[in-house]
Amino acid sequence: LFAGPVDFVKGVVAMSGMPPADRVEVCFAGRSNVGKSSLINALTGRKNLARASNTPGRTQEINYFALGDARYMVDLPGYGYAEAPVAIVAKWQALLKSYLSGRQTLRRAFVLIDGRHGVKAVDEEIMDLLDRSAVTFQAVLTKADKVSRAELEQNIEQSRAALSKHPAAYPELIVTSSEKGLGIETLRATIATLE
Ligand code: GDP
Repeated sequence: LFAGPVDFVKGVVAMSGMPPADRVEVCFAGRSNVGKSSLINALTGRKNLARASNTPGRTQEINYFALGDARYMVDLPGYGYAEAPVAIVAKWQALLKSYLSGRQTLRRAFVLIDGRHGVKAVDEEIMDLLDRSAVTFQAVLTKADKVSRAELEQNIEQSRAALSKHPAAYPELIVTSSEKGLGIETLRATIATLE
């Protein structure tokens, strides 16, 4: 599906460090522990791809991965760490804003929502920022295997209602389980069709 190698490219801490904007690019955002590393690993079929770059001290980096020769996949640091120092959060938010508003080749953001909880206040914050940056985003529910069918349906409905209030939100959400492989092919195909 993605012709060419899938691999970690680099961690970026400032706009000046971004790779040349010469490929279609998607990014992944989500609060810490939402299952972002697991999803990236499932998506790429590489067991430790995301984790390898997620070592402590590098968590404030924007991590670039090559998804074949024609695409970049960008892993944005997890948000919602209550204990993160204010200065760190401010620096990270400035970089995030610059990235979202300044990256010409960014085609879509995938906002990961914990399937057990639905859309929370911290998720709303990133969605507001994506609205303001005019970056189309698509919600991806994670850990679908961890809740009952009824609970999942309820959280899907709650998420749909929340998304409908965001002008930049793509209407269709993708339900996934990295554990069970659910929705991974859909996500892969979605990325592959973006030009
Ligand atoms: P990150 O902080 O967003 O990168 O989250 P991780 O990918 O490290 O996942 C956080 C925790 O949730 C880990 O213990 C994972 O094993 C677990 N997890 C992630 N995705 C799934 C899933 O689809 N199903 C289940 N059951 N657990 C998951």
